[in-house]
Amino acid sequence: MTFPARAMTIPDEKFYRAHITKRVDFAPDLWMFRIRSGGEFNFVPGQYATLGVENNGKRVERPYSIASSPAEDEVEFFFELVPEGALTPLLHKMQPGDQLLMRKAPKGKFSLDMSNGRNNHLLISTVTGVAPFVSYVRKLSKDWKDGRFDGSHKLYLLNGASRPWEFGYKDELIHFDKELPWFKYVPTVSRPWDHADWSGEIGRADDILRKYADHWELDATNTVAYICGHPEMIEHSKAILKRRGFTEKGSVKEEVYWIPSHK
Ligand SMILES: Cc1cc2nc3c(=O)[nH]c(=O)nc-3n(C[C@H](O)[C@H](O)[C@H](O)COP(=O)(O)OP(=O)(O)OC[C@H]3O[C@@H](n4cnc5c(N)ncnc54)[C@H](O)[C@@H]3O)c2cc1C
Repeated sequence: MTFPARAMTIPDEKFYRAHITKRVDFAPDLWMFRIRSGGEFNFVPGQYATLGVENNGKRVERPYSIASSPAEDEVEFFFELVPEGALTPLLHKMQPGDQLLMRKAPKGKFSLDMSNGRNNHLLISTVTGVAPFVSYVRKLSKDWKDGRFDGSHKLYLLNGASRPWEFGYKDELIHFDKELPWFKYVPTVSRPWDHADWSGEIGRADDILRKYADHWELDATNTVAYICGHPEMIEHSKAILKRRGFTEKGSVKEEVYWIPSHK
């Protein structure tokens, strides 16, 4: 979909008119874009960009976690379509070559904390909530290969989805798990019954949290937890972690993607 020139002439120096360079569809409602911002965009892994589209003369903007690492020359995002939403139905129609608005300043504090004395990082996510963790691992993997990271920090990633096809980054993360001694990845599916070929973990990310925290010997003395994505999963995970002693300020970081409507 190409927007008419008129729609992209927003006189605002705060935005880039970014170009979509690549789109990969993982499922009918899950896809990724790579975009070229068209200017400087310096971020740290875990931050988000604000993307927008002008629709009927109104700018619609939402935050999206960045999945790429700062070393890449394009910025990557993992989207889920919210059919009744304001922005994702517009983004879902877009294709390489189309333009979207991107605020020039990245935002957010959901970055890896490597300075508080705890060397284990437990990363817990649902579907698109894996995006900032992909950015962490891509960055550290490059640093490791270039000799800038010694592997003394360990990352443990739990990624939950309803169905196996919702893991946009599974192959890449399995590859990292095999290649990197300091990274472990466990995808888990909560609705496996139609997928006889799924041989991985079963349950939601928060269901398997206790088991893997025990297995990897992660506790509040040696670990920082990072939780990203579905608000209910975040609440459940926080409650589990709190019961396990994660009570100190900074021991749990969270990135909530939306506020649930309590109807
Ligand atoms: C820091 C941050 C980072 C984010 N990163 C990502 C990301 O990497 N990928 C991504 O897809 N989204 C991400 N989001 C969510 C994103 O900003 C939008 O909220 C989402 O894309 C829906 O936008 P929309 O305009 O289509 O729907 P809206 O018009 O904003 O929402 C319509 C309704 O759907 C609810 N809703 C919003 N998202 C969902 C959802 N996924 N599932 C069910 N209900 C929902 C809203 O609460 C609202 O009631 C992030 C949010 C935050 C705060």
